[in-house]
Amino acid sequence: MIADIEREVGYTRTLTGRSSLAPRVMAAMAKVPREAFVPADMQDYAFDNGPLPIGCGQTISQPYIVALMTDLLQLEKEHSVLEIGTGCGYQTAVLAELADRVFTIELVRALGEAARRRLEGMGYTNIEYRLGNGYDGWQEHAPYDAIIVTAAAAYLPDALIRQLRDRGRLVIPVGQPYMHQELMLVEKDAQGAVHTQDILGVSFVPLRDEDERNGTTDEADDDFSGSPG
Ligand code: SAH
Repeated sequence: MIADIEREVGYTRTLTGRSSLAPRVMAAMAKVPREAFVPADMQDYAFDNGPLPIGCGQTISQPYIVALMTDLLQLEKEHSVLEIGTGCGYQTAVLAELADRVFTIELVRALGEAARRRLEGMGYTNIEYRLGNGYDGWQEHAPYDAIIVTAAAAYLPDALIRQLRDRGRLVIPVGQPYMHQELMLVEKDAQGAVHTQDILGVSFVPLRDEDERNGTTDEADDDFSGSPG
């Protein structure tokens, strides 16, 4: 899987401007066991460099995209990072290897609770979990050194930009479902001015907004970090 990621970084280097990813990021990718996040009937594909279904109509992202997005965040050991779209928790684990604290938000209760059980079972203690709508971010722990969104947003959410620290980095796919989506890097400079850069065309499941989720999922806006689901 690591060799596949390196090969794909090579293929896309003229698009992304990167011919390699940070050694720290590649070490975290090598360390986190992807098979632990993939459903039993998909185990044969756990190390293929492609997305896989994780239930509830959602997918675990392709390892190359997880690696690229993580690299773009330029995480340092003392950073706190916000993740929108916990899903199966694979990206969460990679972040937890690299940053001091990870705050992760999932809209779908069944996914969020399963991810939490899995990550706690693996011994991660630097992750906090929340069920809710990621468009709103998580104000309580802001500002964040880095924010990553693992579903495609229709637009750049204001709350996430506000919750980003000066010199912070936000990585987010932006675009309509099943249409062209662009992976964007949003940087706040030392004065708080926002600069955006298009990195690569991508394909993500949609980041669902408030109206759409009403009635479609059985979620609640609550921080369930203190009480087991
Ligand atoms: N990083 C995940 C990717 C999961 S796919 C992984 O590696 O498994 C995207 C996830 O975003 C799905 O779990 C989906 O339920 C969740 N999601 C969609 N809209 C959301 C929203 N508004 N807020 C929080 N999570 C959302």
